[in-house]
Amino acid sequence: MRVARFSHGGEPQYGVVELAEDGGPNPETIAVVTGDPLAGPVHYTGERVPLADVRLLAPVIPRSKVVAIGRNYAAHAAELGNELPPQPLAFLKPNTAVIGPGEAIVRPPETGDLQYEGELAVVIGRICRRVPVERVPEVVFGYTVANDVTCRDLQETDGQWTRAKGFDTFCPLGPWIVTHLALPETDDLEVTTTLNGEVKQDGSTAQMTYKVDDIVSYVSSFTTLLPGDVILTGTPAGVGPMVPGDEVSVTITGIGTLTNPVIEQEG
Ligand code: MG
Repeated sequence: MRVARFSHGGEPQYGVVELAEDGGPNPETIAVVTGDPLAGPVHYTGERVPLADVRLLAPVIPRSKVVAIGRNYAAHAAELGNELPPQPLAFLKPNTAVIGPGEAIVRPPETGDLQYEGELAVVIGRICRRVPVERVPEVVFGYTVANDVTCRDLQETDGQWTRAKGFDTFCPLGPWIVTHLALPETDDLEVTTTLNGEVKQDGSTAQMTYKVDDIVSYVSSFTTLLPGDVILTGTPAGVGPMVPGDEVSVTITGIGTLTNPVIEQEG
């Protein structure tokens, strides 16, 4: 099941996306549901809208946090000259950095090296703390696609990564959430990033040092996770610069494609 958050002219709504590839009776439409599936039980309203008529929004606005894992792919750690961390390397991105599909990534004037990082994102479905690895599937709502946008120069000079990875618009998410039930295995998903149509990153979650269940368990060992919290799982090799005028797309098999333009900050 693909859960989308969208605007059809008015307030954001939630719905279940049916694509042509599903072979069902209502291709390329969204079945509208009541309320927010992450907040509680919902039911279908009976209304169905064409996917082409809506604007997809970030599928979740994390109430509290986006936790991200750095250097989780050996080849990516190596390309930046870094050692593999002895345990998951966690940092926070503010929830105000989240944007949706098609929204612009804004390059701030403080950086001369804005970069993309295509990543699998985990969306938490239940409040939880100190979750054993084997019970992680119980707390995962689903998965979406993320771009862990980074000012590579500020990451280096600041030491701490909060600013380099925390500017507004630096956490594109989407295009929707695929529920855990619909995507029970995340250990070998292809993660591809293209810049203006040219493939820049072509990895697989099979290359992750710490797998989804390890990561969620680890993060929950130091912070309470809330429904709607998002965990980014690291990026494969091939990171690189993007500049205003570029269009960046991250595709993960079984989930979809997240595309965002890059623009210059005005004023
Ligand atoms: Mg990253």
